[in-house]
Amino acid sequence: MTAPSSTALIVVDVQNDFCEGGSLAVAGGAQVAADVAELVASGRYGTVVATRDHHIDPGSHFSDEPDFVDSWPPHCVVGTPGELLHAPLTEDLFAETFFKGEYEAAYSGFEGKSADGSTLAGWLREHGISEVDVCGIATDYCVRATALDAAREGFGVRVLDGLTAAVSADNLTQVRQDFADAGVTLSTSP
Ligand SMILES: [Zn+2]
Repeated sequence: MTAPSSTALIVVDVQNDFCEGGSLAVAGGAQVAADVAELVASGRYGTVVATRDHHIDPGSHFSDEPDFVDSWPPHCVVGTPGELLHAPLTEDLFAETFFKGEYEAAYSGFEGKSADGSTLAGWLREHGISEVDVCGIATDYCVRATALDAAREGFGVRVLDGLTAAVSADNLTQVRQDFADAGVTLSTSP
């Protein structure tokens, strides 16, 4: 099955620091990387883009005593291996990558910009996209924020639940409620 050409896959923050062995590891992150790579390779989506946390000096987003709600151990610092996509994902799999969070926290991919300065919403519209499927890390932070912003921007949004990993399972009841309230649907398979 191929997705309609008006549907894009958004792969959120599947980076080394958010996977096992990284500075802010989310359990199941490496499995998400493997499963997303398989989905991309299947050719199901004509348009696939990535977002990346891309920190230079994000202020209070980083802390030596993080609360894991608003402050976090340093992660995804530009120029470090932790900021790179987790294998087997590679940059060339994506039509475009949107970088966010240089100087402040940025959970949503819609806060990011591509290397040539395009916003995610603008880029998707230019490419005739009206529906997005969202997957990646972490379900309760950057996937949530990206999916809710996509809905706010007027896109039809599905979150691919089996292709995400959460910081805390305790957050998921609220996250599912937030998705339902915003008209974001959850799907266990692509
Ligand atoms: Zn961050």
